[in-house]
Amino acid sequence: MSFKNLEIIEPVLRALEEEGYVKPTPIQERSIPVLLQRKDLLGCAQTGTGKTAAFAIPILQLLHNDELYRKGPAGIKTLILTPTRELAIQIGDSFKAYGKYMRIRHTVIFGGVPQRSQTDALRAGVDILIATPGRLLDLINQRYVRLEHIRMLVLDEADRMLDMGFIHDVKKIIAKVPTKRQTIFFSATMPTEIASLANTILSNPVRVEVTPASSTANTVRQELYYVDKGNKKKLLLDLLTDTSINTALVFTRTKHGADRVAKDLNKAGISAEAIHGNKSQNARQRALKNFKLQKTRVLVATDIAARGIDIDELSHVINFELPNVPETYVHRIGRTGRAGASGISISFCDAEEKAYVKDIHKLIGKTIPVVENHAYPLVNHSVLPKEKQRPSSTRNAGRKNDFRNSKRKRYHQKAGRN
Ligand code: AMP
Repeated sequence: MSFKNLEIIEPVLRALEEEGYVKPTPIQERSIPVLLQRKDLLGCAQTGTGKTAAFAIPILQLLHNDELYRKGPAGIKTLILTPTRELAIQIGDSFKAYGKYMRIRHTVIFGGVPQRSQTDALRAGVDILIATPGRLLDLINQRYVRLEHIRMLVLDEADRMLDMGFIHDVKKIIAKVPTKRQTIFFSATMPTEIASLANTILSNPVRVEVTPASSTANTVRQELYYVDKGNKKKLLLDLLTDTSINTALVFTRTKHGADRVAKDLNKAGISAEAIHGNKSQNARQRALKNFKLQKTRVLVATDIAARGIDIDELSHVINFELPNVPETYVHRIGRTGRAGASGISISFCDAEEKAYVKDIHKLIGKTIPVVENHAYPLVNHSVLPKEKQRPSSTRNAGRKNDFRNSKRKRYHQKAGRN
């Protein structure tokens, strides 16, 4: 199967050839014809398998071919919502690359930066808008953005966009988009409760599932190291003495933790930068750029970097702390082993994180191989009593929720603010 067989128009074909795309990936092969028929779609495919092009190519083609596009009223025709600023920028870059031989205008809007250049671009006229929900609502309220001509709506990382951290904003936005539209959801994970919510927004969707949802790519070799919490730093430094680790994306659970790990690494002579929600947007983009250019060897991140971010030649993902939401594990390790390349994921697990490993195994349907032979094996297997694990605010409230459920809920509420 070639892109030509999918009846992709010449200007897009030319751009794809320049990108070095020889043939469509499975998710592209199955989604593009559905989208060209203007049907709603719920697409699930593993991380790094070309989901962006799976929606960007047909969107560009439909806009290009659309009679209405040329004759109809001016205004934004397509809206793409993403959970993070970095992902919005990356999707904007993809539209730029695939649409370089077309006269379709796109722009990216996100928070954390002055709005002036964004409102200037909007005023000049835009066909495709890629946005994070907060800034979009802000600009809608200021009347810089009108959504009444939208004909295609995409939720990238759809399950994240529909969970508690974003759903209120997303619902407000959807309420402003015409009901007669094509709606497209893509993700690598789709918890069942979120899939049912998705189905209330989509209209008679075609479901394209290339690999089971939440499965991890075979191109990623996964390893698990049991280690005491207090020894994680030493283990990380020990592992990084291996020069075959060219680049490593290290995930921590908190912003403060990310800063601390980056500081420790720099002290030990390993170039590292941190990226999280307390950094200015400029610092976030600079850190990501330096890492992509391999100027820094290690990027220490919270989950703002867990989804969608595409880093060429990233060899290792290291979970310094395991996520308490198992789907996040799938997204984090999916930053490596992309587009058929191979990668290694290393997860540190202390006594208190063992429960998370269980949840992850259940979700991914396999057991992560354990590395037994390392310098800092787990000695302290004891877990704090449940009462002590809960943060004081919950303890004081005297709630009797199951600990892990309440933690999962808190995560969803907080994750958007990483
Ligand atoms: P995505 O899942 O959209 O982030 O894409 C993952 C990576 O695959 C990106 O680096 C894309 O440039 C690349 N890619 C997407 N489609 C193709 C294709 N048909 N052939 C080769 N590489 C692709």
